[in-house]
Amino acid sequence: MAKKSFYRVYNFSAGPAAIPEAVLERVRDELLDWRGLGMSVMEINHRSADYLELNQHAEILLRQLLLIPEQYRVLFLPGGASVQFSVVPMNLLRGKTTADYLNTGIWSRQAIDEAAHYCRVNIATSNDESHFTTIPDPSSWHLNSDAAYVHYTDNETAGGVEFSWVPEVGDVPLVSDMSSNILSRPIEITRFGLIYATAQKNMGPAGLSVVIVREDLLGHALPATPTVYDYRTAALHHSIYNTPPTFSCYLIGLMFEWVQQQGGVRIMAECSARKAAKLYRCIDESGGFYKNSVEVMHRSRMNIPFSLPDQVLDASFVAKAAEAGLVNLRGHRLVGGIRASLYNAMPEEGVDALIAFMQDFQQRYG
Ligand code: PMP
Repeated sequence: MAKKSFYRVYNFSAGPAAIPEAVLERVRDELLDWRGLGMSVMEINHRSADYLELNQHAEILLRQLLLIPEQYRVLFLPGGASVQFSVVPMNLLRGKTTADYLNTGIWSRQAIDEAAHYCRVNIATSNDESHFTTIPDPSSWHLNSDAAYVHYTDNETAGGVEFSWVPEVGDVPLVSDMSSNILSRPIEITRFGLIYATAQKNMGPAGLSVVIVREDLLGHALPATPTVYDYRTAALHHSIYNTPPTFSCYLIGLMFEWVQQQGGVRIMAECSARKAAKLYRCIDESGGFYKNSVEVMHRSRMNIPFSLPDQVLDASFVAKAAEAGLVNLRGHRLVGGIRASLYNAMPEEGVDALIAFMQDFQQRYG
């Protein structure tokens, strides 16, 4: 194999996260002259035919990848998922005063705190007693049939807790934050009223969110909603009401093409399951040297937190791993320990290299 002319590490960051080398190479090749226009994609007008085509192509690809039915609109909106924490209640209350939230970790909590500015939040269930290591059984949830919607976080990026099923909530629209696991498996879109995801994990660049929303939920934004974030306006203008983050939209389209070239979300799901199973096996077979405390059936395939016997070893692990080209393994600042994020762009060889490093580290310091 030809030697690379650049240095690349295995990047286990939770986000902004690794982007496939093939995508970055394409960006490099197209940077100065996109499509023979003699300009970078960053320099073209967002209302030009070329840009409109780029925007439409990205939407078509996402629709193909996730089999999004016609009655759902796809929006590319500026800002991360934290913006959607407010924008969702602004758009979806529809005259109601209460929304149900499932609290399964740090990101659900943030969504709850933002929503509380706009409505009464009913926390239908919470796993804080278990220190966010499980998902309470649905039979214990207190859902409110008059809620405007039910919100949950499909994958908790910091705590490493992931739903392996879609919650059953009757006729109330189900809203899901899929920021850290979108495109990692097929989704039954019709089970949802709305899905949103920030882009910088499985979809490339930071500063952009994808929203997939059922058409009948549009048109009810609170009067004070910024026009850019009124979902109906965004849908009417195909996400180009104002100047969109054009470079990010270009990059997200390249990421969708890449997922398609890999074989689509079914293949991504197989790869994710294989990568995560390997790493959990390594943790579970370490005789307690490495520990992940999430209940097995709720363990995330994307973000795998674990700890070592003490914090000094945690720090040494992170530093020595970085020397070995395995970077960004420090746990979330509110959780501590180690966290390995295994998004779509993390090749299986990266996980193998991490496991080999972990076994060697344990032999030296265990
Ligand atoms: N939801 C989840 C599940 C996340 O992991 C994150 C970011 N880590 C967010 C929301 C917030 O995204 P952003 O920082 O892009 O606003």
